[in-house]
Amino acid sequence: MSVSVSFDVDFLVIGAGSAGVRASRIAAGLGAKVAVVEERFLGGTCVNVGCVPKKLMVYGSHFRADVDEAEGYGWHVSGLRHDWSTMKTRRDAEIARLNGVYERLLTGVGVEIVRGRGVVEDGHTVTVRLSEGGTRTITARSILIATGGLPVRPTITGAEHLLISDHVFQLTERPRRLVVVGGGYIGVEFACVFAGFGSEVTLVHRGAELLRGFDIDVREHLHHEMQKRGIRILLNSEIKAVDVDGAGTCAGNARINSDAAVKRCHVHNKSGDHEIIDADAVLFAIGRHPHTRGLGLEAAGVAVAESDAVIVDDDFRTNVDGIYACGDVIDRKQLTPVALAEGMIIARRLFGGPEMKAVAYENVASAVFSQPPIGTVGLSEDEARARGVSVEIYRATFKPMKLTMTNIDEKTLMKVVVDKNTRKVLGMHMVGPDAGEIIQGFAVAVQMGATKEQLDATIGIHPTAAEEFVTMRTPLPEPDADEIIRRTARGV
Ligand code: NDP
Repeated sequence: MSVSVSFDVDFLVIGAGSAGVRASRIAAGLGAKVAVVEERFLGGTCVNVGCVPKKLMVYGSHFRADVDEAEGYGWHVSGLRHDWSTMKTRRDAEIARLNGVYERLLTGVGVEIVRGRGVVEDGHTVTVRLSEGGTRTITARSILIATGGLPVRPTITGAEHLLISDHVFQLTERPRRLVVVGGGYIGVEFACVFAGFGSEVTLVHRGAELLRGFDIDVREHLHHEMQKRGIRILLNSEIKAVDVDGAGTCAGNARINSDAAVKRCHVHNKSGDHEIIDADAVLFAIGRHPHTRGLGLEAAGVAVAESDAVIVDDDFRTNVDGIYACGDVIDRKQLTPVALAEGMIIARRLFGGPEMKAVAYENVASAVFSQPPIGTVGLSEDEARARGVSVEIYRATFKPMKLTMTNIDEKTLMKVVVDKNTRKVLGMHMVGPDAGEIIQGFAVAVQMGATKEQLDATIGIHPTAAEEFVTMRTPLPEPDADEIIRRTARGV
């Protein structure tokens, strides 16, 4: 005889970030009784301390370059200056507006928002340490862990003086001299943002080239473009310690303005050289790790990998019946659209929505909002070669038309990786204005398995940069042995 168990809710979601909000909304829309537990802010990293405020700052920082471009067209602009506090106030107001939108999205479909920290007790029970004080125990038929990730904090001597990406959005002044550590998405993006606003930026990266995992031509091209914008890039280098010079005071900012001493960064490179760089602020962007600590997962028996990521199967089920996980906390691809897709699939599978295909982790397009930006989808040249594919490479480098009337020396790069035998387009990569917007469209073609001949058969839109992707006709010669050695040394 089966015993029916009654639960407080059908679906309890821990974390109201991209994955959690999407899963909650879809589940509630399908008739489930849903509660979402959140201790920080609605919308998670993306809305509050990630993609959205960062992109607003990317726009904001680019206007100086836009003005330089305008001068080539006869505009005379004098007295240009930037007011950080105006930018911060308006950016924060926009984020507050979005928080309200997220709240209404949830409550509008009947999702209960429980403010506090959720601790998993077992496969169907969560205790919430309520923000207002006290605790509340909630039972649920299914639990979703969607707690996202947190920036990795540096552990070097002087770490208390350093910023992580969350702090950038609290800065009330712009640091005049900024050191950025990390050559990944966040390091590269913020190096460009602050350089655009006028800071003196040094980027310190432990690897042999920025953006490991991206196509080598893209990495080298962006490196040169960043240098042209005055960013100093130190490769094969690490900061071993940061001490403060009590006598020196930062002209701009420090650690959220409370630590106004100059930071002295002790930089060592792999060839044994040592240099001290003084900075007003030092930002570490050395990755993000899954946010699983303090969630009670160990006590509840939920298996977690060495990286702290929650281990799930293809249906996002953990090893404990009733508990699911998705988004950055499972550490598959730390990208908002991936988290949204995962959250949607779980909700539909649990609560009877339209059948969805599994998340396609191959060919996920992404952009780095550097200046100029990168857009990329599919395999890099080296990834394709490493898979044993015989490749044909198409590449174009040119000055964007908008800049031809200016003295600005910026080049756009476009590259297509093709399987010589099947003719399938394996990867498309771009560094240049609107790269993310352009690659988003071509990503559909790559996802559908487009061939090079299908690109060739597509009539371009003239005059655009994007048309270059359908007009490249001559493949590059195979790289010689020296070129392969040179590239290998940059690391893939
Ligand atoms: P990334 O993993 O992209 O880059 C981390 C960088 O830090 C790498 O250059 C890495 O070097 C370096 N690094 C790692 N550990 C250390 C260390 N102990 N000391 C010195 N350097 C170190 O992480 P981010 O923090 O830049 O971003 C986190 C994730 O967030 C990204 O991977 C991405 O998925 C997502 N994101 C996406 C954005 C977008 O879509 N535009 C924007 C921002 C973030 P090495 O290469 O040698 O490992």
